[in-house]
Amino acid sequence: MLLPIVKYAHPVLRAKGRRIEQIDDQIRELAANMIETMNAANGVGLAAQQIGEALQLTVVDVSRAEDAPSTLQWNGEEIDPASVMPLVLINPEIELGEEVVVGLEGCLSFPEITADVPRAVVAKVRALTPDEKEIEIEATGLLARALQHEIDHLNGILFIDRLSAVNKTSLKGRLKRLRRESGTD
Ligand code: ZN
Repeated sequence: MLLPIVKYAHPVLRAKGRRIEQIDDQIRELAANMIETMNAANGVGLAAQQIGEALQLTVVDVSRAEDAPSTLQWNGEEIDPASVMPLVLINPEIELGEEVVVGLEGCLSFPEITADVPRAVVAKVRALTPDEKEIEIEATGLLARALQHEIDHLNGILFIDRLSAVNKTSLKGRLKRLRRESGTD
């Protein structure tokens, strides 16, 4: 089922997600609907806040982004990222490498806006999967960027919070228009 995507500046986008204590059919169904919604919108990730639920749950799929490569270690073993997409991550904890790279990002909650965002080159994530397995993954490339973007959402942080002052100023007019369109300004 396709879910409506919440747009900036709806307050749920600023809510920290609750930890999921029990992974039940309701959570699995929500994750399946989020994957369907992400795919229909051609997104590489979608966080629960973006469909109006402040939960520690996100989905990611970088398999269609052929021009932006990723690497992935899955529980210590190097694997083809496409082989495990889409990823469903529950209660994820992220650890970032020190090296930073700037890259272009968009967000399904910010239609038609992209901006250069600095992110760690390497991201390590521990999370639970819908079948209640604990995983530890280490990513680079687009997947590392997508994980940081989505896990930020789970903590109420948006990509516009990570922009340089100059880049943020240049987006001011478009952000204001989005707030107006979403009735939050
Ligand atoms: Zn986003």
